[in-house]
Amino acid sequence: MHTKTLTQLVDGLAKKEFSSTEITQHFINRIKSSKLNAFITVTEDLALEQARVADDRIANNDNGVLTGVPYAHKDIFCTKGVKTSAGSKMLDNFIAPYDSTVSHKLNTAGTVMLGKSNMDEFAMGSSNENSYYGSVKNPWNLNKIPGGSSGGSAASVAARLSPFATGTDTGGSIRQPSSLCGITGLKPTYGRVSRYGMIAYASSLDQAGPMTQTAEDAALVLNVMAGFDSKDSTSSDKNVEDYTAKLEDSIKGLKIGLPKEFFSEGLDDGVAENIMHAIKEFESMGASVKEISLPNSSYAIPTYYIVAPCECSSNLSRMDGVRYGYRCEDPKDLEDLYLRSRSEGFGKEVQRRIMIGAYALSAGYYDAYYLKAQKVRHLISDDFKRAFKDVDVVMGPVSPTTAFDLGSVKDPVSMYLADIYTLSANLAGLPGMSIPAGFSNNLPVGLQLIGNYWSESILLNIAHKFQQQTDWHNKAPKEY
Ligand code: GLN
Repeated sequence: MHTKTLTQLVDGLAKKEFSSTEITQHFINRIKSSKLNAFITVTEDLALEQARVADDRIANNDNGVLTGVPYAHKDIFCTKGVKTSAGSKMLDNFIAPYDSTVSHKLNTAGTVMLGKSNMDEFAMGSSNENSYYGSVKNPWNLNKIPGGSSGGSAASVAARLSPFATGTDTGGSIRQPSSLCGITGLKPTYGRVSRYGMIAYASSLDQAGPMTQTAEDAALVLNVMAGFDSKDSTSSDKNVEDYTAKLEDSIKGLKIGLPKEFFSEGLDDGVAENIMHAIKEFESMGASVKEISLPNSSYAIPTYYIVAPCECSSNLSRMDGVRYGYRCEDPKDLEDLYLRSRSEGFGKEVQRRIMIGAYALSAGYYDAYYLKAQKVRHLISDDFKRAFKDVDVVMGPVSPTTAFDLGSVKDPVSMYLADIYTLSANLAGLPGMSIPAGFSNNLPVGLQLIGNYWSESILLNIAHKFQQQTDWHNKAPKEY
């Protein structure tokens, strides 16, 4: 059952080949015997209850497309009555009192939550090694990182522990783990999916999206996740398309732009080879390819690593040991309560970013750092605006390397370099995807597609066409 894609499961449920209860129990059993550490919380009882309700809905013809389908929910989405930790000791005791909009939409659609997936603490990281609950292992090689911060979600889809998963992407956290685990991940345009109840990391960059085996599956999930929400002032009221409608459109005449900055020094040869091979595949399908330039993309890392820490230092100030979350023992006074709760509750990387952000935002430094970073951010967006006058989609690698060894990247700046190709799309607010495009040293390589604003259905169409031509997305790690 677990070898089926989400689309095939939907089909099987409709044809009553199996019940939601059966598939739910099957995936729960797989999660329980898995050694990947992909979940922080497994919600078996809740899942079986939701599956029972879904089976009733199906029996009464009161179901939607995804009714009865199980999934893994990144532990950054508030889920009413269920622990929501964001991978942090700070929220280890936090039971969310309400549902995020994404959780609410998935519940209303009748999906079944298998559990809350592991992640880097407050979504800060590229390897999942910053989780308070320990790193997730890459199912393709247990000594490797799965990528981050949505590593639990990526590993669970790759190892067929769940048919789909949710992720969030502030600087690459859907695309990069999808690439390193060999699955399909889509970060929509900023504002397409509501951020309400999604624990905030960097509010002007955070965006949620689906993580699946195929583009066709991702379209089904995005249909449920997307849409205006009056509870999120940055959510867009633009009409939600039916993301499955254009999947089969021809991509003959598609104009692909390859930014020369994405193929320069630092890109692993094995990764580059697979990406070029994938581009050839597109040419054989009638697409044309052109070299383009995104001249400001070399500033993406310094710009992002100013903007994101600034916003996180503000967002995380609410974790103060007073209202909810971790509180230190026997505080002497209020200052001691703040100081020790925050020093004991937050991990190293989170503390580092809070300090960088507080410094960059402080009087006298604001103009030199935050304001300047915002200006460069505009230049990065302008590069893409210029590019999209000539091409329909930008393609390149997601990650400069395949998954690296757990514990091998020790200094934070080297870790930040892993984000080199993903950050620009967040800074510009553009949609981006990672799709499986081959293997190097037996580890998956992801191809990145970056589209113009609101072009999710075009990206899904391009990805789907590629997946009809190739079978990288069908490959599963051996034991699975
Ligand atoms: N790796 C990036 C960071 O650590 C992006 C994380 C994300 O997208 N949440 O900030």
